[in-house]
Amino acid sequence: MPVTAIYPGSFDPITKGHVDVITRASRLFDHIIMAVAANPQKDTLFEPLKRVQLIRESLGPLTNVTVESFEGLTAEFAKQHGATVIIRGLRAISDFEFEFQMSQMNKTLYPELETIFVMANLEYTFLSSSMVKEVAVLGGDVSPLVPKTVQTALKQIKKQ
Ligand code: ADP
Repeated sequence: MPVTAIYPGSFDPITKGHVDVITRASRLFDHIIMAVAANPQKDTLFEPLKRVQLIRESLGPLTNVTVESFEGLTAEFAKQHGATVIIRGLRAISDFEFEFQMSQMNKTLYPELETIFVMANLEYTFLSSSMVKEVAVLGGDVSPLVPKTVQTALKQIKKQ
């Protein structure tokens, strides 16, 4: 039976670390949905639709990956889309506690759901969307850290 996975996150904005995770995960599952969390209570730099657009422009030839935004529970989104796997990235021990807690909660909400962790590429271990935003706002060069389309979007925001 084909296996559908979801890769949920804020992706505010997508970085080369996320692209690396989804590229590697796309070889393991039949279909992956990148699920962009659009919860209104979370303060983000980019609107959900813009985050979706930036992801689509960054993915290139990954034909089994689709992108959607969602509100509410990740477990509910997975269930609605027939997904049985959640993919998350792990960068350091500091990610572990929160991720472990979240995976237990998701399993409680939807017992058929497995969380699979993809270890960050050594090159991107220290890379996060928040770090990228901080550096970009201060005028630093983020070109090694984000896809070209994100670099352009960050420059446009800085000009506003
Ligand atoms: P969230 O707000 O849900 O943590 P993020 O967009 O920050 O959303 O991250 C989504 C997922 O991608 C998380 O599992 C996070 O650990 C993972 N991730 C973020 N940056 C990297 C990276 N550089 N390498 C590997 N995984 C990463």
